Amino acid sequence: MKRILVIAGSDSSGGAGLEADQKVIAAHGCYAMTATSALTAQNTEGVYGIHETPSDFVQKQIDACVHDIGVDVVKTGMLASAATVSLVAKALREHKLELSVVDPVMVATSGAQLLPEKAVRTLCEELLPVTYLLTPNIPEANLILKEAGQPPIEVSNEKGLKQLAAAVQKLGPKYVLLKGGHLPLTLDDSIAKTGTEKEVVVNVLYGQNLETTVKLPYQQSRNTHGTGCSLASAIACRLAQGNGLVQAVRMACRYVEAGIKTSVQLGKGSGPLNHFH
Ligand code: PLP
Repeated sequence: MKRILVIAGSDSSGGAGLEADQKVIAAHGCYAMTATSALTAQNTEGVYGIHETPSDFVQKQIDACVHDIGVDVVKTGMLASAATVSLVAKALREHKLELSVVDPVMVATSGAQLLPEKAVRTLCEELLPVTYLLTPNIPEANLILKEAGQPPIEVSNEKGLKQLAAAVQKLGPKYVLLKGGHLPLTLDDSIAKTGTEKEVVVNVLYGQNLETTVKLPYQQSRNTHGTGCSLASAIACRLAQGNGLVQAVRMACRYVEAGIKTSVQLGKGSGPLNHFH
């Protein structure tokens, strides 16, 4: 059984964070281990409190998993502090954990700050150079550029998305999957006529000798809580199962698409995906 180590925060409502990660990993038939970087008091409407794990304890959790069970792929989510970002970078290096999917979680959709701004610099300096795949959304990609001392790249089309992905990839990660969910683009006429959806989400996968897009119909749904966490975990599972990166990303995108399509409204706000479809 393939082993995934998740280093992330807990979401008490089970929609995002490591609760979502564990559901995704179970749905893929893989084995989930967790190093919990923070607890959140959270539901579908917002985040009401954050309780950080001391980073030396996060380190103990990582070491315990690596030394006994072993790890095929690492997935990181909310890391909560600069100290934890730094130790995760060190752990990836020292334990030679080459396959990592790093979701640079910074701000929740509800607006809660999940990583202090000063920790973004640590992410740029220490974690990006040892990252296999980084999965930012557009605002996160631009925050990363800002902390790296580079001008923002305003995106309004596919070309802009590719430029932004390339600029972030130059900061260190082997590959970047820039998620275009914040910028649904209009389909060209030929495609629009065949479907009911009028817009498409363009995700750009960029790295050495690789530039490709994964396009999905934009889905109008309020149940998108934990989408980013779920996508990164699904990619981690598919990589662990031996798929190439492009194939892993395509399969994971389809998994999340189905999860949103079949979601059931739970709670009063942005509900979770359905993981068992
Ligand atoms: N809470 C935790 C612990 C998370 O890790 C994340 C995202 O990665 C979120 C909340 C944010 O989820 P969303 O922006 O999908 O609501």
